[in-house]
Amino acid sequence: MRSITTLDIQYAHRFYGFCGEAQYLHGHTGILTIEVEDSINEGVNMVYPCNEIKKIAWDVLKNFDHALILREDDPLLPAVLKVYEEQGIKDGHPQNVMKGAAFITELCTAYPDCRLVVTKETMTVEGMIKIVYSLLKDKLNIVKLTFTSGVNAASEEYESCISINRCPLCGIALDESGICPKCGYRKG
Ligand SMILES: [Zn+2]
Ligand SMILES: [Zn+2]
Repeated sequence: MRSITTLDIQYAHRFYGFCGEAQYLHGHTGILTIEVEDSINEGVNMVYPCNEIKKIAWDVLKNFDHALILREDDPLLPAVLKVYEEQGIKDGHPQNVMKGAAFITELCTAYPDCRLVVTKETMTVEGMIKIVYSLLKDKLNIVKLTFTSGVNAASEEYESCISINRCPLCGIALDESGICPKCGYRKG
């Protein structure tokens, strides 16, 4: 069985070097659907609580929300950083509070203080799926991701590859010692 969660991400990007309108800076509401598969956790009669999938995903994905996503070789990158620097918002702002933890992966680097994500590849819907899977695959047993942005959509399916020990009382993953970080349940 699957538990399915959807979340939306507001972002700006462009396809640097692409022959089409998308080479100009523009924005989207992207809609990401995450499908997680496992047995039914009999204690709570769920695969995984959808709000908890959302929480785990949002912890890292909020780096992409109200963010600018540019490819590492895009000349807009130094230009935008120069403006942010001069304006004094490059290294953060007291009202820039909805930030995720900074991260670096093979596919992208997040700079939450200036709401910027720098990607290795062009951030198409397909590119976003690769990024999301690499960020979440060890935390959730993802079997399908779908990302829709404007008229573009892509989806990818994955082999079920991890089995998560879940709390029979609230459904979330137990920690390495078999204790639920949310309700304190201890695996007997
Ligand atoms: Zn676009
Ligand atoms: Zn629990």
